[in-house]
Amino acid sequence: MTASHERGLDGPLVAGVDVGGTKTSVVVTDGRDRILYEQVAPTDQSSLVCQIAGLVDDARRELRQDIAAVGVAIPGYVDPDDGSVSMAVNLGITHLPLGPMLQTELGIPTFVEHDARAAAIWLSEQAADGPAETPTSVAFLAIGTGISAGVILDGELLRGDNSFAGEIGHVVADPDGAVCACGLRGCLETIAAGPAIARQADEALAAGRSTVLSPHSDAADVFRAGSAGDAVAVEITDRVADHLTRAIRSLVLTLGVKRVVIGGGVAAAGPALLEPIRSRIALERAASPLAQAAMGDVTVELLSPTQAPGARGAAAIARHRIGLPEREGVGER
Ligand SMILES: [Zn+2]
Repeated sequence: MTASHERGLDGPLVAGVDVGGTKTSVVVTDGRDRILYEQVAPTDQSSLVCQIAGLVDDARRELRQDIAAVGVAIPGYVDPDDGSVSMAVNLGITHLPLGPMLQTELGIPTFVEHDARAAAIWLSEQAADGPAETPTSVAFLAIGTGISAGVILDGELLRGDNSFAGEIGHVVADPDGAVCACGLRGCLETIAAGPAIARQADEALAAGRSTVLSPHSDAADVFRAGSAGDAVAVEITDRVADHLTRAIRSLVLTLGVKRVVIGGGVAAAGPALLEPIRSRIALERAASPLAQAAMGDVTVELLSPTQAPGARGAAAIARHRIGLPEREGVGER
């Protein structure tokens, strides 16, 4: 943790909180998006508001600095105007006026955004600072407890008229597949999200398959075993790669993005996740002039969860919404 009173501290501080199904990340950043404080805690689904308020208070105490505003990134149906979150199926939230409750608890302005969208906003801002040829459209594909995409199109955040734009995790990928937390059957999430990967390992064990995997292995264990050549793990990770490649192709073909960034907890698998996707895209390009034309210069990258794109995006949103001076932002109203 860096002392915030060091030379060069720029502007009031804002906190960004990324609430995931298993972990909640907090960052405090200055006006130049420099991280002054970072913390990760297991998500306490039973008392989210108290937990987030406590984490922000910890940051205030540690930094001995005021925090001007808080941004919270969370999955589900998020209304950024009233700060509520609904239908966050992987957090057990039906409806929660999260923003107003936190604002009362903390006494500072609080803003709420969809987690993948917050990350996409942060990515887009990073790109704006990069080389001029960096694409202005990007899809951030978050793969963790659930799956969703945050999309920036031509520099603008995509919400859609139904505000569900990017919820690719609930596109049905296998009509005969497992029942999803959303109530549908065979959603992409039931195949390629972290708990789904673990579930498929448990199913193979229950079926008596021979594997190095032990009961309750997590997604990282499965990717590790797959890299080591375990047949069951390879089968699972191949299926995951097949479905994620299709999802990425759908994002590219329907939205026209040339840059797809994979993040979320499952991204911690690293090359074991990324390379099979890249090789499948290469095969599709070789097999189809259309795929070559549409996907020829598409880049698929991996962003480590330790880079905290959701929390940093949430912090950036808080900074924009209270009108702190900084470089031009994108996306939010
Ligand atoms: Zn679903």
